[in-house]
Amino acid sequence: MTAPDLAARLGGRLEAVRQRIAAAARQAGRNPAGITLVAVSKFHPAEAVAAVLSAGQSTFGENRVQEAEAKFPPLRDAWPDLRLHIIGGVQTNKALAACRVADVIESLDRPSLADAIARAGDRLGRLPDMLVQVNTGAEPQKSGIALGEADAFIALCRARFGERLRGLMCIPPVEDDPRPHFATLSRMARAHGLPTLSMGMSGDFEAAIAEGATLVRIGTAIFGPRPTSSPAAPD
Ligand SMILES: *Cc1c(COP(=O)(O)O)cnc(C)c1O
Repeated sequence: MTAPDLAARLGGRLEAVRQRIAAAARQAGRNPAGITLVAVSKFHPAEAVAAVLSAGQSTFGENRVQEAEAKFPPLRDAWPDLRLHIIGGVQTNKALAACRVADVIESLDRPSLADAIARAGDRLGRLPDMLVQVNTGAEPQKSGIALGEADAFIALCRARFGERLRGLMCIPPVEDDPRPHFATLSRMARAHGLPTLSMGMSGDFEAAIAEGATLVRIGTAIFGPRPTSSPAAPD
């Protein structure tokens, strides 16, 4: 597919997603401007990201630090307004690289990672914005701080990172109704006075917006199905 074809196709999907976000916001009595779309580009090639950038999208999400490092620094040179969120689990030994490449780390989920990010901040002279990921579904294989430990961990991160701690993120279990998970996260953010709530993906972002999401992380509805390996050649 040629670059203009790719830009037209992905630009059309992006616009459709934006309209659905605006409609869901109005339905919930909210201002659409209070909801930021994070376009999740994991496994998609830099050409696809460039097409979506050309269509006016500036905030992207990647779940692997290494893939983000390979794709994003060259794009930033051409699009200085680009903002990148790391949305996948971060290994402690990747914390410095994550802080270098990302504007926001959405997956802060344990004290050892908070320590590593603090050390990275000392080295770089700046910290990214951060969200605490909460494992609202208590899934053993999933990243995220356990519900029972979340309040104490959030307080610890608040004390340590101050305003750089912006809010909370969750990924409900695929087999569950997501709505109660979104409601739980929303209550928790309110209780801690945190402004940012990252919840909602291609299949459930309207429900997340109804429960107060301020960031929605959407991949498939914009980029189409993910190639099975990363990063793939453009089609
Ligand atoms: C891949 C991913 C998404 C996007 O999922 P889609 O269903 O493709 O919209 C959102 N959040 C996280 C953490 C992801 O890893």
